Amino acid sequence: MATTNLKQPIVAIVREQTPQESVLKGLERIGGIQNHIDKGDNVFIKVTLDLPKSYPTTVNLDALKELIDACRNAGANKINVGSFPYEGTSIKDISETLGLEGLFKEIGVELAYLDNSNRLSDTDDKKKFLKSQTSEKIFANNRLFYIPKTVLESNKLISFNQVKVHPLFHHTSSILNSYSLISPEDQEVKCNKACDTEYLATDQYKKEMVAKIVDVYSIKIPTLIINDLFYILEGAGPFVFKDSNMVKTGTIVVGNDAFSVDLITSNLLNVAPENDEILNEAHQRGLGSFDLSKIQLDGTLKDYGVIVEPCQKILSDIHINEINVLQGQMCSGCHVQAYYLLNFLKTILLKDLKYMSETSFLLGDKPPIPVSQSNNIIVFGDCAIKSTKDSDFRVDKITKKKKQKLKPNKNVLEIKGCPPTALNALPQFLEHFRENNMPVLTLLNSLCSQKLKKNKGETN
Ligand code: SF4
Repeated sequence: MATTNLKQPIVAIVREQTPQESVLKGLERIGGIQNHIDKGDNVFIKVTLDLPKSYPTTVNLDALKELIDACRNAGANKINVGSFPYEGTSIKDISETLGLEGLFKEIGVELAYLDNSNRLSDTDDKKKFLKSQTSEKIFANNRLFYIPKTVLESNKLISFNQVKVHPLFHHTSSILNSYSLISPEDQEVKCNKACDTEYLATDQYKKEMVAKIVDVYSIKIPTLIINDLFYILEGAGPFVFKDSNMVKTGTIVVGNDAFSVDLITSNLLNVAPENDEILNEAHQRGLGSFDLSKIQLDGTLKDYGVIVEPCQKILSDIHINEINVLQGQMCSGCHVQAYYLLNFLKTILLKDLKYMSETSFLLGDKPPIPVSQSNNIIVFGDCAIKSTKDSDFRVDKITKKKKQKLKPNKNVLEIKGCPPTALNALPQFLEHFRENNMPVLTLLNSLCSQKLKKNKGETN
């Protein structure tokens, strides 16, 4: 396992006219690229990779090109660029949409298909086989991780992180950027602790996730880090949601130590160090110091403060006219998935919401009970399902009134999981509310099925 960078942390805060100029100036301010890349180095640049669902969700390609040119000029041998994408997307899809493979070929670097989506892998067995061939099993902190060999075999890891707001961690840091060196499935935290009061009260889900993030970071520590805040998605982000906005801050933070670069970035964004759980975990493991005087800092924090609107912390603040959020005690698992689902409904399914009569959305342990049972009731996650199973609203009120054999209330949609996923919830919406009541979701579903069939045809 890698150890922390023993050199003195050097960090520069840069504000130039363009992201490209800022990256170049940043490298210059931290001693020049030749101080970080040696002749003959095999370099892996860990970027932020996503479909262009909004701007900026993925790495700034112009600035990335400047970084690649700089590595080449320093004598780097082979340069790979990559990241696992978000759940539900493949690197192949992103590459085809953005023309990445062609672009990278032109500039002499390779797009690393960490998910093997460029190879035949249409069954789970084939996927597992390819994973075992292209990654190595590494234990960190008694947890097993599959790390791509391309990453482990590189001499230098560079983190080029597109900063954006995040529903659990205020913003995406470079330590968090390292987490997508493992697949989205491996990033998941499965808790199976529904209604465990202690688990919920102490938010063990988030603690486990933070520990895993720092584990992965500690396996291969980057030696050159860029936090790109030049353009940043604020508000509901990190995806294109109705309430997301792009703001131009013109700022980039560059350095040789991820902890210090993230600490300075958090300071710029006005996040108190004690509230940054990832930094606290890394600090406890001796992977960095909160002492700003130990950082050789080029640029003063007070001159570069950045104001961005964070994600809503309270789910009922995501105002959707037709949906009333009723929340019991819950952990971050349900919070983050419900956050994505509610913002998706608000952003993409506006037309469909018109057809849904007033809906109660229950989540967490012992949520408040909806007043009327004639409307739709979504029970999201195992805590809400388990803790409301004997509630009045679960039974059909007509059979109850007529004292007949009790039937379940047909207006209740249970979305199981601990936590459930926003992505898996959507087909259940379609089934429950019926296709003619969900025109947009039906269309999206049909387009996705066609794409899946086409991809299958291509690989068979
Ligand atoms: S059901 Fe949701 S809130 Fe309950 S323990 Fe699981 S993830 Fe946490």
